[in-house]
Amino acid sequence: MILSCSGWACTRLISVSKVPGGNPVALADPENYAIQFKICEDCGSYFCDRCHAPGSRLRAPRCASCGGKLAPGTKLERLSGRPRPAEVEHHKRGVELVKSGRPDEAIREFDAAVALRPPYAAAHHWRGIALTEAGRPGEALAAFETALRLNPSDVASHFEKARALTRTENTAAAIAAYDQAIAVQPGYPAPRINRAILLMDGGRDADALAAVEQAIALITGGRAVGAGRYDLASAHSVKGAALVKLGRYEEALPAIDYAIDNGPDSWNDHYNKSYALERLGRIEESEIARGIADSLRNS
Ligand SMILES: [Zn+2]
Ligand SMILES: [Zn+2]
Repeated sequence: MILSCSGWACTRLISVSKVPGGNPVALADPENYAIQFKICEDCGSYFCDRCHAPGSRLRAPRCASCGGKLAPGTKLERLSGRPRPAEVEHHKRGVELVKSGRPDEAIREFDAAVALRPPYAAAHHWRGIALTEAGRPGEALAAFETALRLNPSDVASHFEKARALTRTENTAAAIAAYDQAIAVQPGYPAPRINRAILLMDGGRDADALAAVEQAIALITGGRAVGAGRYDLASAHSVKGAALVKLGRYEEALPAIDYAIDNGPDSWNDHYNKSYALERLGRIEESEIARGIADSLRNS
């Protein structure tokens, strides 16, 4: 049997095998397969041997998601049929509701989950996501802060906290929160890209360019952790915009074209392209790009 690890951005698979000592294919490939793992007695999450908290002599390791006790993976069969506590069911329903675009109903589920289990870190995190989706960034911020008090190394909550601060137009605090996310997980490109956008909005174009170059280097160097599908395209979009603002039009064009070819449609990319081309005296091409920008903007 193969399980996936619940650790943040962990892509390792957990091999559960009756073969003594573990499945030989999995044993030969420890980067992609874990043999040792733990299972949460409450929420049933699986954590590979690189993703669970170490625990101590006096205290068993706890689940990073719900705070439940982690049992050794050998107890999998015994634990799998067990009914889940009500708060875990509320949390599960809440996540499904967020994913199907029903944040208001989701908030009620998370309220119920954290009322039953106040130290439920993942429920606070997801409650924050639901509040953000419902257009309540101030309350979302408080939810992410609670999640971080329970689990300070929760990089996803640092990231979402920064996004909530951006929405409440608290730019300096948002940049500081992105810095925290980067400190916790230097390989995570998304906070570097978003931080670069805030720097550029604040007129710090050279700093923005440097920040986004680092994100690009992480992804193209294969060192990124938790990279999203469009992160490389977004990073090029920001790089192109920063170069345009710095007056480096010739260099901006290939970055913008990369974003256009590999990312979702954005009028902004075409607009920046049109502007750079115009400044380079390539008027005909500039007008074509401007036409695409206008049609995307109005659609
Ligand atoms: Zn748990
Ligand atoms: Zn893992």
